[in-house]
Amino acid sequence: MEPVTNTIAVSEKPEGYEGAGFFATRLDKVVGLARKNSIWPLPFATSCCGIEFMATMGAHYDLARFGSERLSFSPRQADLLMVMGTIAKKMGPVLRQVYEQMAEPRWVLSVGACASSGGIFDTYSVLQGIDRIIPVDVYVPGCPPRPEQIIDGVMKIQHLVETESLRRRDSPEYKAMLNKYGIE
Ligand code: SF4
Repeated sequence: MEPVTNTIAVSEKPEGYEGAGFFATRLDKVVGLARKNSIWPLPFATSCCGIEFMATMGAHYDLARFGSERLSFSPRQADLLMVMGTIAKKMGPVLRQVYEQMAEPRWVLSVGACASSGGIFDTYSVLQGIDRIIPVDVYVPGCPPRPEQIIDGVMKIQHLVETESLRRRDSPEYKAMLNKYGIE
């Protein structure tokens, strides 16, 4: 029988000072580390890209490795809005309401060509990119993107989450950006 080896990776500790019996670092680095490894996604899946997301959650790709296995279907308990699929213009207000119901800090991942730009549906009824109604942090290209690409997008979000200043959400620049979308 094969020996069982411990392959569980432990997160790198942030920069700081350490000595016998103590380790000191900055508060925002600890908060960033905790947030990065416990992102709760809200999957807003409307079509085929959502199937790729199901594969991403399955045992083979296993998004749980990134601390994101706890999906939230309630916007108030979600950190990351993952938009996957064609968004019809009629669906736009619903998507926006979901975004508005999420508490700060919140991030948005646009998965696939349809969510990012309307994709092949250059037509009157389809929203030509969700960034027309809500701000987007990371775009994942592809039609459909493979689970590896979705994971790559989540890792890019993790990088943003880890490095974001605790004060960014209170900054005038952030508020001005939301105001451009008509969001208070
Ligand atoms: S990008 Fe392609 S795979 Fe994804 S929802 Fe649109 S048509 Fe489907």
